[in-house]
Amino acid sequence: MPTEYGLECCPLRSRLEQAVVAIFGPCYHCAFAAAGGYEDTGPLRGATSMTIYLHDTLRAKKIAFEPLKPGHVTMYLCGPTVYNYAHIGNARPAVVFDLLVRLLRRSYELTFARNITDVDDKINAASIESGKPIDEITERFIRAYNEDMAALGVLPPDIEPRATRHIDEMIEMIRILIDRGYAYEAEGHVLFDVAANETYGQLSKRNLREMIAGSRVEIAPYKKSPHDFVLWKPSTPELPGWDSPWGRGRPGWHIECSAMAAKHLGRTIDIHAGGQDLVFPHHENELAQSTCAHDSDTFARYWLHNGFLSIAHEKMSKSLGNVLLVHDLIKSTPGEVIRLALLSAHYRQPLDWSDETLESARRMLDRLYGAIRGIEVSADERAGAEPPAAILAALEDDLNTPKALAEMFNLARALNKTKDEAERSRLATEILAAGDLVGLLQSDPEKWFVGADDSAISASEIESLIAKRNEARAERDFAAADAIRDQLAANSVSIEDGPGGTRWRRSG
Ligand code: AMP
Ligand code: ZN
Repeated sequence: MPTEYGLECCPLRSRLEQAVVAIFGPCYHCAFAAAGGYEDTGPLRGATSMTIYLHDTLRAKKIAFEPLKPGHVTMYLCGPTVYNYAHIGNARPAVVFDLLVRLLRRSYELTFARNITDVDDKINAASIESGKPIDEITERFIRAYNEDMAALGVLPPDIEPRATRHIDEMIEMIRILIDRGYAYEAEGHVLFDVAANETYGQLSKRNLREMIAGSRVEIAPYKKSPHDFVLWKPSTPELPGWDSPWGRGRPGWHIECSAMAAKHLGRTIDIHAGGQDLVFPHHENELAQSTCAHDSDTFARYWLHNGFLSIAHEKMSKSLGNVLLVHDLIKSTPGEVIRLALLSAHYRQPLDWSDETLESARRMLDRLYGAIRGIEVSADERAGAEPPAAILAALEDDLNTPKALAEMFNLARALNKTKDEAERSRLATEILAAGDLVGLLQSDPEKWFVGADDSAISASEIESLIAKRNEARAERDFAAADAIRDQLAANSVSIEDGPGGTRWRRSG
């Protein structure tokens, strides 16, 4: 059955993949489609509803959101592992779930936690490679992450728990899991015994018995089953470690989030979010640990996952050399352009990133800023304005950002058409109120366009300087090339070299 987003993909897969589907069940898109997809589940068509509908990965369908405690929502987003700058894919969950935070805050009190994973083997490896102490690396990249996300309009979380500050809570949770028969100690490790947890596999729709039977995973000698996962592992003296009943060691990744979520938000939280790659094993394991430790059926009432971002249809990876860091991108591109690009696709859909993604986001913002330019809207009018009902309805419908943005352009079109000043002012106020909700249009429209029309340096002069710089680079005259870059920078023009050539923009 085709759905609103055309998500039913398993039938299109190869015969080999079909065999995998036959054993493990459909992927989560298709499980969602089989459960009714969008068309059958939400009553949200047209009118604004105060109800927010969210797609829950566990139930594989879109359902009306209702918090455990009326009026108050708890939400946990798996945050970064801090050993490097965040790439544009890492920014996707931060931005799309920031929009959910903003939407929820309209109707509820919200406690939002986004953690920092500051103990991890990748951090240890980065420390060994760079010769820098772990603390220096983690502090540096926590700061960079927060600055980069702020540049994309992401509001800070209410709580930003760090794993290394919650070791006692993790040890206590592991101890309970052992006492209850869900975990066992083996050679300095503590492992979660997946076979003891009847519902293991429920989130990622994996059948454990089949997983084990068909598994080719090497069985570590100390594991009862290859799928048993680490709660605690031993540390050597040069690696970070804490004393525990099982010797000096460090926690596994999954227990970190279970312990921090329970401490700050309670044993049952309303929303747990992250990227699609976290469904298995990270969230499946968090779910197993939390429900078993707390003797409860529900850890998170709604599991939300964003789709993956690829670059020119390829996975971002260091070996392909196509990792796009937010830190670099914001030097040449306004944060709002990146934010809009990330919001331009529905959050559960894959998003393929290219130069064109940014160009089109820039054009869209130019259109919106162009429409409201020159229209006086006071700060009070703006703060008191409600976003239009159609935009709220789109966002309340599982964050349908493509539709919400389309509605903003409809308003801009209507504004451009009318000569009636009162109507123009009303429409501009609505556009700005929508912008405040989605985290866009935060600049002064005049400043947005600064230098675009009557700057000291014309577009053709810029193009000709860039051509000269490219000639200099081709002749390996890097001093001349750098001098031209400096000349452009002095004229508030920043340039960016990419596979499609050199792009420029006025940085105002
Ligand atoms: P990490 O620091 O690798 O744990 O990732 C932080 C967050 O970014 C997690 O929620 C991941 O699921 C998400 N993420 C990582 N890569 C991508 C990508 N290419 N597209 C979308 N989300 C991603
Ligand atoms: Zn997590």
